Amino acid sequence: MKKLLEIKNISKYFQNECVLKNISFCIEKGTFTVILGASGSGKSTLLRIIAGLEKESQGKIIINSINLENKLPKQRDVAMVFQDYALYPHMTAKENIALTLKISKLKKTSINKKINDISNLLQINHLLHKYPNQLSGGQKQRVAIARAMVRNPQCFLFDEPLSNLDTKLRIDLKDEIKRCHQKLNTYTLYVTHDQEEALSLADQIIILDKGQIIQMDSPENIINYPTNLFVATFVNSPNYNIINTTIYESSSTLNITCNNKQIPLISLSSKLNLNEIIVGIRSEHIKISHKHSNTTIPLKVRSCEFTGSNWKVKGLINSNMISFYSDKKININTNINITLSPSHINIFNHKTLNRIIKEP
Ligand code: ADP
Ligand code: MG
Repeated sequence: MKKLLEIKNISKYFQNECVLKNISFCIEKGTFTVILGASGSGKSTLLRIIAGLEKESQGKIIINSINLENKLPKQRDVAMVFQDYALYPHMTAKENIALTLKISKLKKTSINKKINDISNLLQINHLLHKYPNQLSGGQKQRVAIARAMVRNPQCFLFDEPLSNLDTKLRIDLKDEIKRCHQKLNTYTLYVTHDQEEALSLADQIIILDKGQIIQMDSPENIINYPTNLFVATFVNSPNYNIINTTIYESSSTLNITCNNKQIPLISLSSKLNLNEIIVGIRSEHIKISHKHSNTTIPLKVRSCEFTGSNWKVKGLINSNMISFYSDKKININTNINITLSPSHINIFNHKTLNRIIKEP
């Protein structure tokens, strides 16, 4: 039988405010699952409920067929790593790591062996005698991760563990968290508001918005087949363009109006019965065309900024400001032609904002 972590219909109210609404999902042992959501979407509350630090208003959590209801945090076989490290300031790194092992009454030699193994894995051997205030943010977080791992839990919960670190450290520690996860083969739930972190770490991503799951899918499907415009703009930020447009004709080809020109956009398997749609596309999938043809869109350049490697160009399609890249500088007010890569287009219903064509 497959080993599973099952979250069943979890809801949470603070006073009368509903911050988690009927959350259900299931993860297999060994998968790295990232919960991605904006600040205030309920990510920390969900992790705290799984860890037993907060009581759910409704629902169940089951790990390996064991219901966690009424189990204290220390009985749950779940370890949590926090954004602010939460180390005990009066204890050395080693004492912090050893604490939960001492509580479990292990022999001193086996405690030392475990600490040694985990310190090698996280490269903190030289820091074990130091106190938290003698460590940098990245070192503190390594110690906090070691403290969680040394217990050998079934399930790891990471609550934005890299948010307080600067870029270089974030990348190093992110790679290490992924490596440790692969080695330990546990349930890992990792919370972040950073879409790049989510895409690079996850086997599967859960998109959370206002306490509800909007989509749970592989990173590739989240990018290529976002369930709605919210997911598309959130995971592709800041390079996602939306174009409000009218359908000129929908038969075997979808023809739309862009800057007063009718262009064929994509082939259709069935006609769309709509007048208006929203077209979504990443900046990388818009190309400047040196010739104009029936598929090119005329556009006047509004701004052109150097990015360090190329130029980011902006202009209007209908009433929407869109951006794309150019190899060369283009003067403001130049009239150019662009094309939208058909295989990278998403089409959304302009009222419901749901994606309406299932396959490209
Ligand atoms: P996230 O981690 O995604 O930023 P949180 O889970 O911390 O979101 O918070 C979700 C919502 O629940 C927020 O609106 C927050 O204000 C509210 N909330 C969190 N903890 C409490 C609490 N102890 N009492 C009342 N409201 C809370
Ligand atoms: Mg939080």
